[in-house]
Amino acid sequence: MINSQNIINQFADHCTACGCCVEVCPIVGDTALKDAAPESIMEEVLTLFNDGTIGPLARTRIYSCLFCNACLSACPEALNPGLTFGTSKGLLQQLGDIPPKGVATIMSFGKTLLDGAIPSFRKRLKSQEKLITSFTNDKPKPVKTVLFASCFGLIEGSVLHTALKLLERIDPDVCILGGYDFCCGEFQFMAGQPDAAQQQFDKMISGLNALAPEQVVMFCPTCKMTFDHHQPATEWSWSFITDFVARHLDQLGPFQKIDKIVTIHDPCHFVRGVEPATDSPRKILEAIPGIQVIEMEKSGDDALCCGAYAITGTGKPGYQFRNRRLAQAKGTGADILSLYCPGCHMTLGSEGANISLQVESILSLLGKSLGIA
Ligand code: SF4
Ligand code: SF4
Repeated sequence: MINSQNIINQFADHCTACGCCVEVCPIVGDTALKDAAPESIMEEVLTLFNDGTIGPLARTRIYSCLFCNACLSACPEALNPGLTFGTSKGLLQQLGDIPPKGVATIMSFGKTLLDGAIPSFRKRLKSQEKLITSFTNDKPKPVKTVLFASCFGLIEGSVLHTALKLLERIDPDVCILGGYDFCCGEFQFMAGQPDAAQQQFDKMISGLNALAPEQVVMFCPTCKMTFDHHQPATEWSWSFITDFVARHLDQLGPFQKIDKIVTIHDPCHFVRGVEPATDSPRKILEAIPGIQVIEMEKSGDDALCCGAYAITGTGKPGYQFRNRRLAQAKGTGADILSLYCPGCHMTLGSEGANISLQVESILSLLGKSLGIA
């Protein structure tokens, strides 16, 4: 269980301000932090945690953090700076700091997106029972497999619909749980409300328990990371969608040819989460005849973030970061930048079109090969 005060206290007790996490941090060079000594930046962070004094370096360090986890392996004290900085947004707000516009409005932004996305997703469904966004009675009908869409899954509706069809081919006893009530808490965490994020996570687990599933398949890698952090005790197993689909590829074919060169953007929350894995998306692409995978700079376990968190927290540095990531993909000469994270898709997708780079989900490519996308 995540407890925000414990996370901050543990960090304050053990961080030595050595600065190693700053040296490996991929966003620092895009911010005002680039001209400061790594040790000074972290001393300011400790001053904030110990004395409640907000300095400009600490503030930028916290709001610019991508939560990419690239610093995890660099910290000699085995601390988690990304999780701590996300939690510290709440501390800054308690101390009277006015958050950046992107952080202050993220909750209403998410709600507005979902208000439009849910009715539009419902129109795609043949059976309305396939999508649950609230419970109408205390004892809903049990289901064997829950495709857990959370919030972002519904925003990426066409891909989620393809994912549902893929899972139905494996076993028809599947339904989707998602929407504002069943977010994993990440929106609250991004908004600097770590305690509300914990309550939201508990509420979402209650929703999953009510369906008494055998297994939960997660559509969003950030939900997977959140689950891994909380380690809830459940009677059902959970797995990530690409892992689940890759394990059942033999039940899905035959596959039609797609003659395209594809590069892959791996979501940092997945590759450096508690249980990192990047094989399954590649196995899915290998199953599609005609697809040639060309790896981009910083892929697999070394993957860079799409920039989403820094966009909400700092604006321009985040956009610079996102554009650099797109340029790396474009530089491979691939026809398609493929990905498997709805958040990365939202961040990279629209701007990809502006540089004539097709951005597409790996699940959509698989669905096209099967004639169901
Ligand atoms: S999580 Fe990523 S962005 Fe945040 S401090 Fe660590 S390396 Fe930097
Ligand atoms: S690497 Fe670890 S100990 Fe060193 S400054 Fe960063 S968080 Fe603190």
